[in-house]
Amino acid sequence: MASRFFSTKKGRLLAAAVLVGAAITWWSFRSPITPSAEVADRIQSIGAGRLAEHIKQLTEIGPRDGNDAEATRATLDYISARLRGLGYEPVEEVIDWPGFEGGGSVNLIAEKRGTKYPNKIVEIGAHYDTVPFSPGADDNASGVAGVLEAARVLRDLPTERTIRFCFFGLEEMGLIGSQSHVAGFAKTPEREVLGLLNLEMIACRKTGPDTQDAPIRIPIIASLPTTGDFITVAGDMGSGWLGNLFEACADSYVPELEYFSANRIGGFFGDAARSDHSPYWNSDLPGIMLTDTAEFRNGNYHDPTDIFETLDLEFAAQVSRAAAAAMAHWAGVSGA
Ligand SMILES: [Zn+2]
Repeated sequence: MASRFFSTKKGRLLAAAVLVGAAITWWSFRSPITPSAEVADRIQSIGAGRLAEHIKQLTEIGPRDGNDAEATRATLDYISARLRGLGYEPVEEVIDWPGFEGGGSVNLIAEKRGTKYPNKIVEIGAHYDTVPFSPGADDNASGVAGVLEAARVLRDLPTERTIRFCFFGLEEMGLIGSQSHVAGFAKTPEREVLGLLNLEMIACRKTGPDTQDAPIRIPIIASLPTTGDFITVAGDMGSGWLGNLFEACADSYVPELEYFSANRIGGFFGDAARSDHSPYWNSDLPGIMLTDTAEFRNGNYHDPTDIFETLDLEFAAQVSRAAAAAMAHWAGVSGA
């Protein structure tokens, strides 16, 4: 004789609870994206060679410190020329910062308009300045190159929302460019910025043992591997879904890319707030930083030895491909 358990009230409640639990589990583990063949095809053309060209041109300018008006102008001219060549109309956004009178007081911004919600904006960015005396190949010519390549492959891809490519100044002086940028959102209330994907040093990879240091290692919760062959995805609690989106894009489009997820928990670590996504967090906007972890892996950090020859451009290409795919999906690529 069959059990009559599910015909009792208690049994029906239990069955319903199990079903709801299963649905929630399915919902939270399902991939937030449906991969697009068009996106897969476009990001394939982001390779080491194209990134190398950008990084060489930028590092040949020399240190690009915000107080060096000439080097900053050369840097902005290079980025602008590449964007114009792709058909963008880059705009120099004056950094509003009382007391700063250096030469590099602009952020450079270019937009690809959304087809359905042009006033909803998703941002990808990197800082273009360096500390004095460092040519900044990894910090952060690598990130600038990644954003330029994303701008190239996304140029003619129709997306529902607007994608904004941001090149921040004065990061090394205390995130001044990005703070000014975020403060400026209030001036255009009709346009809603949804957050930032920040490329902050993406070209240092170490495959040997004990090549990865950490500010702190907490077993299970936040324990960076000891081999420095991954990109870190750092987000705070409010950025969790954006980190999930990036990681889903990495899983589907660039499965060879190793990443360490400091998604959500990143907000609890001071070292994870040391770049241009931090002003977004402070304004309750999502922000994710992709980073090779700076001095915790790269011994050339902020030194004159942060040069082109030390970089792993295949690694940078993998990160850039995943970042470009994430922007396509965040902006709402049609058919995906
Ligand atoms: Zn940096």
